[in-house]
Amino acid sequence: MLQTIAGHGWRSYSSKPAQNLHVGKPGAGFSFELTDEQKEFQATARKFAVEEIIPVAAQYDKTGEYPVPLIKRAWELGLMNSHIPESCGGLGLGSFEACLITEELAYGCTGVQTAIEANSLGQMPVIIAGNEHQQKKYLGRMTEEPMMCAYCVTEPGAGSDVAGIKTKAEKKGDEYVINGQKMWITNGGKANWYFLLARTNPDPKAPASKAFTGFIVEADSPGIQIGRKEMNMGQRCSDTRGIVFEDVRVPKENVLIGEGAGFKIAMGAFDKTRPPVAAGAVGLAKRALDEATRYALERKTFGKPIVEHQAVSFLLAEMAMKVELARMAYQRAAWEVDAGRRNTYYASIAKAFAGDIANQVAADAVQIFGGNGFNTEYPVEKLMRDAKIYQIYEGTAQIQRMIIAREHVGKFKA
Ligand SMILES: Cc1cc2nc3c(=O)[nH]c(=O)nc-3n(C[C@H](O)[C@H](O)[C@H](O)COP(=O)(O)OP(=O)(O)OC[C@H]3O[C@@H](n4cnc5c(N)ncnc54)[C@H](O)[C@@H]3O)c2cc1C
Repeated sequence: MLQTIAGHGWRSYSSKPAQNLHVGKPGAGFSFELTDEQKEFQATARKFAVEEIIPVAAQYDKTGEYPVPLIKRAWELGLMNSHIPESCGGLGLGSFEACLITEELAYGCTGVQTAIEANSLGQMPVIIAGNEHQQKKYLGRMTEEPMMCAYCVTEPGAGSDVAGIKTKAEKKGDEYVINGQKMWITNGGKANWYFLLARTNPDPKAPASKAFTGFIVEADSPGIQIGRKEMNMGQRCSDTRGIVFEDVRVPKENVLIGEGAGFKIAMGAFDKTRPPVAAGAVGLAKRALDEATRYALERKTFGKPIVEHQAVSFLLAEMAMKVELARMAYQRAAWEVDAGRRNTYYASIAKAFAGDIANQVAADAVQIFGGNGFNTEYPVEKLMRDAKIYQIYEGTAQIQRMIIAREHVGKFKA
């Protein structure tokens, strides 16, 4: 369906800043109104989430099974890989549209949304740094059939401190030989290929900006051992694994940009992927707010629905404020990407704020449900477990604050 929309040139109406629209009118160039096409994407994703994800989300949470039918369906609807360029057979959507879709998918289940979003994270280094051949080969195949990829950076000994990774790649003739261990890789056991960051300069004094190289690695390369599926607190149907690379040979054609460019590529991808992660957190928070509101209208204590107790209605008001503001934060961060501007500051604000409020709002929803909120028969305990990861992956809440402070203070020094 969405492919059809793309075929009719809807892209020209996307969130690319409407530079000359409304010139001379009040509020020139600024609008909260979505385009008809954006509304259509949002409605398609919302319908899919409500009708197809929500009915099975609890079961996937219980079993931890990878949601293959949902992923296939999302692919068919054009709700996956939305930012793959048109030159590679994709829709080439803006970040803003991708985020609208992500919020809706997350409303359904953030385990499913994370599995889908991890594809964007794996693809992003190839989108921002791949040459034409690499893009056509590795992004192109993902538009031909439902397929996953993964972003392999974190290791058992280094997560926040990316420059501390130990996986190394040594050049031998026309190949690189990779040895090392990665950890917490989303889609690790399901990916067709990986973006992998490895150290190519053994000199410990070499600056991070020169010491690391980014590779595209076929997942079926000899020497790759995929670990067990990790049992996590939440988002349990998402596939998270450790992966060992032992003498894995990668052709030099699979280096992104060139030797030494990897750190910048790996970090640069986050500017583009943090807005959708924030959108996922907002989707979860909105779901918690809606569930809590419905419950508060039905549940009675002391002769009236609990929503009529001011303490409860004010809690709902606080939750609504947080959802609205976090949504604006991710939309600003995504809009900056589509405007072609460096969005590091806004991406970290959105990611940090949305990650925090998702946890607060989910915990408040459990509170409004009382004892029922603590029980697996009701939807909000899953939301509270699922929310935690938004303060950890793609840069922890603390790391986001370090980035925001650096960017903010930097403006004063400049
Ligand atoms: C479910 C899941 C999925 C993931 N998916 C992926 C993936 O697909 N690909 C991938 O590469 N990685 C992935 N990760 C890894 C994730 O990005 C890291 O776990 C995260 O960046 C934190 O790194 P760490 O776990 O090593 O914690 P650490 O870096 O050891 O941090 C521990 C604590 O110390 C704090 N801290 C660290 N340094 C500082 C500092 N300088 N100042 C203040 N506080 C600090 C942190 O905020 C945190 O609270 C995933 C993780 C999980 C759990």
